[in-house]
Amino acid sequence: MCGIVGYIGPRNAAEIILDGLRRLEYRGYDSAGIAVIENGGIEVRRDVGKLSNLAHRLAEAPVMGQVGVGHTRWATHGKPSERNAHPHFDAERKLVVVQNGIVENYRRLRQELLAQGHRFASETDTEVIVHLVEAYLDEGHDLEGAVRLALGRIEGAHAIVVLSSREPDRLIVARLGNAGGVTVGLGEGENFVASDIPAILDHTQRVIHLDSREMAVITYDAVHFLD
Ligand code: GLU
Repeated sequence: MCGIVGYIGPRNAAEIILDGLRRLEYRGYDSAGIAVIENGGIEVRRDVGKLSNLAHRLAEAPVMGQVGVGHTRWATHGKPSERNAHPHFDAERKLVVVQNGIVENYRRLRQELLAQGHRFASETDTEVIVHLVEAYLDEGHDLEGAVRLALGRIEGAHAIVVLSSREPDRLIVARLGNAGGVTVGLGEGENFVASDIPAILDHTQRVIHLDSREMAVITYDAVHFLD
């Protein structure tokens, strides 16, 4: 089941995310990663093993930004490795996706995307999601629309967060079926997302759980819920 923590607000996102992921360690994982919007781009750090390894990487090469997402992975498709750890990038490194769950039809989607010229950097089922979103963005959809269309193509149970440096003021989150919960935490001028309440309880007690087939667009001072 593993974990997801996301943050948007005035504080150092990496610190809040890492602390939140530590509070989800009980769910088990084999690798971890984080993406933060920094200077108009997306910085990613990933490592196998314990969160202390990721923390070490972050100490060596810090990421400073106010919007980010972190993930602990329990590998189902592709061995535990840095390359397979989430977040996963699109070709232009302007978009990242993290997922808990399994994309059951990923083989078919991967073939389709390969035929369209997409290149894959990992062995995971998850990477098809970021390429699908990229394909819909290239067709001219905005991030929310592209994510919605991509979610309509994948089969299985998922908790997903998408972050883009083209629309750096938002996190798009979604729950399809049951692959761990998706909890949105409401703050003052800051908002949170997590797979489970303990990850964000220090910051807010105002939480809303997504039902299956619900999405949320989380900005600094608002959350829009969609089905
Ligand atoms: N199926 C995905 C993978 O192997 C996500 C596993 C998870 O829930 O962490 O990357």
